Amino acid sequence: MLELNAALTGSADYLFCRIDEAVADYRAAHPLARLISLGIGDITQPLAPVAAAALRTAAAEMASPAGVRGYGPAGGYPFLQTALAHQYEGLSCPVLPDEITVTAGSKDALGGLFALFSPAVPVWVCDPVYPAYRDCALAAGHRVHTLPCRAENGFLPCPEEITEPGLIVLCTPNNPTGAVMTRAELQRWVDRALAGGSLLLVDTAYAAFVTDNSLPRSIYAVPEAHRCAIELGSFSKSDGFTGLRCGWVVVPEACGCAGAWRRWLGSHSNGISYPVQRAAEAALSPTGLRQRGRALGVYRRNAERMLDFFTRRSVPCTGGENAPYLWVRCPDGGDSWGWFRRLLEECGVICAPGAGFGAMGEGWLRFTAFGKNAATAEALRRMDRLF
Ligand code: PLP
Repeated sequence: MLELNAALTGSADYLFCRIDEAVADYRAAHPLARLISLGIGDITQPLAPVAAAALRTAAAEMASPAGVRGYGPAGGYPFLQTALAHQYEGLSCPVLPDEITVTAGSKDALGGLFALFSPAVPVWVCDPVYPAYRDCALAAGHRVHTLPCRAENGFLPCPEEITEPGLIVLCTPNNPTGAVMTRAELQRWVDRALAGGSLLLVDTAYAAFVTDNSLPRSIYAVPEAHRCAIELGSFSKSDGFTGLRCGWVVVPEACGCAGAWRRWLGSHSNGISYPVQRAAEAALSPTGLRQRGRALGVYRRNAERMLDFFTRRSVPCTGGENAPYLWVRCPDGGDSWGWFRRLLEECGVICAPGAGFGAMGEGWLRFTAFGKNAATAEALRRMDRLF
């Protein structure tokens, strides 16, 4: 047997696979259990009708002799790049359509972004963290340093803790903690990156959940960020595309790695499917944005309900405002996998144990607002006794 990549064999399985396994074991032993998932952040609301119509139209177009389409441009069709660039208009930094690459979701872009840099470049990630950053960085051979995010600092990382220049991964609104960075906080990161020769990789997969207009939805709201920041975006959660798969990455020319990104893309991608890109374009149209509001309204209602539930019971928690996740302290100082099992066995509710997001996540649980309203309300009723 050839030697395998130790980053893949030497660590526990991906968090949500471990959760799925624990739930499958429980289901096998309790086939009649009616479980409610507040675990993985997957959507429950349908696609916007305008996006579904665009998918059908594009598929019909491809089925006609005049509409035959082969490989698309590796970076995405200009119609979608232009629609995406439009979202950044009016921000402090310029974002041009050809600096935007359409991807099969933001997770799919991670491996390529980490591959741009020499393994000698360290990657900085938060703790707790969306585990894919750490896993992909390690698989690409980087050393990974962690930035502890504690309750005392609002679960935000601190720029002063960067002791060595590298690729710094930030996520706002944050998964798992629901913390959202202000413009001033992002400014501190841009200043730090520019002063120290680091690059920021900013994941804005949950930007559509920001309702407070004083909060930035993009790193490019901060002056000079295009010189030091790559940004990831996704249609997954805002537009119900977790099953369709579409996202984007902005790699500005000014940040110095756009050429390497084009080189990587040329050899790794033949583009994203035409119907999916037409659906994404439709999702960004005025009608699409109006229709998106309906699904987001359902998720926001869940977040409000959950926040109210925990706040009334004086359970320490964060997130749930401008973010679809709640980060909740385990009662009685218990451990997070223990509480994950207790909620599963005693309430039939699936959550995500905080320890799965990093050592600093121990003692915390993550609840997602992506359920249906009735199911979320039922989950809270079932948990009443335990909190
Ligand atoms: N980034 C964050 C922070 C996420 O939480 C997720 C999925 O849960 C993703 C990216 C993946 O998004 P996509 O479906 O676009 O790959």
